[in-house]
Amino acid sequence: MTQTPENIGHRIEILDPRFTALRISSAQLERLWTGGRWVEGPVYFGDGKYLLFSDIPNNRILRFDETDGQVSVWRAPSNNSNGQTRDRQGRLVTCEHLSRQVTRTEYDGTRTVLADQFDGKRLNSPNDVVVAADGAVWFTDPTYGIDGDYEGDFAVSEIGNSNLYRVDPGTGAVQIACGDLVQPNGLAFSADGLQLFVSDTGASHVDNGPRHIRRFDVDGATLRGGEVFSVCAAGVYDGFRVDMQGNIWASAADGVHCISPDGDLIGKVLVPETVSNVCFGGPKRNRLYITGTTSLYSTYVGVCGLPYF
Ligand code: MG
Repeated sequence: MTQTPENIGHRIEILDPRFTALRISSAQLERLWTGGRWVEGPVYFGDGKYLLFSDIPNNRILRFDETDGQVSVWRAPSNNSNGQTRDRQGRLVTCEHLSRQVTRTEYDGTRTVLADQFDGKRLNSPNDVVVAADGAVWFTDPTYGIDGDYEGDFAVSEIGNSNLYRVDPGTGAVQIACGDLVQPNGLAFSADGLQLFVSDTGASHVDNGPRHIRRFDVDGATLRGGEVFSVCAAGVYDGFRVDMQGNIWASAADGVHCISPDGDLIGKVLVPETVSNVCFGGPKRNRLYITGTTSLYSTYVGVCGLPYF
């Protein structure tokens, strides 16, 4: 699929002077590709100069080639894959709605199941995932993929709750890391790995439900704290990533929100479609890839993403 990038324009909103140095005054937002139904799960491969992203209802993973701008189908069917990352060995880790699994793609292309149940009950529909420095896989398990037949298969939750889980790197055991979230969604570690940020998009299911990111202190396999770090000012925070200066770049209804390390909304990249997730890429990790409803966008920013995925 060949598409010429469409220039959407300079779509920056500065809400705080701290954002001025984080945006590039001449940078344009570009629509790199369109034609999906609900795209999510961007993950960057600097070694291959490409980005993978999920097109959930279309049951495929797409591949944007940074060298020539081509988009091709990388995996189909994809088990309605959603959020993705890479582990510290560079292997792809994928949340799958249809199979209700978290999987790892090995170097030879085979899939290994990392998690598919808790306490003998099937997971709901893993949504997003990060891998800690110790190899532990942390993932969220809301119900979006079993709520209907559009992004997976309809099913009633066997577990009866939407939890954040941790897969132990030694034993492979799946344990609840946090059970008091309504619909846990995106997640990311701080640069030092000592804090974990988790979004809760429970407002989709509960009147006046959460639309915020919580911040936890990480103590090995245990989380402490969990205070509300930032409340979304437009829609909900779905997926997000952290930059080298500790700012969070989070998806929202009107674009990408940049949140300072102390939780202030300091600026936005306005996007014409609701944004689901973001990912840093490019040789310097200063290219912000944005998955937004039907399209893949990118822009350059004045800061680099953390050197993991
Ligand atoms: Mg998500």
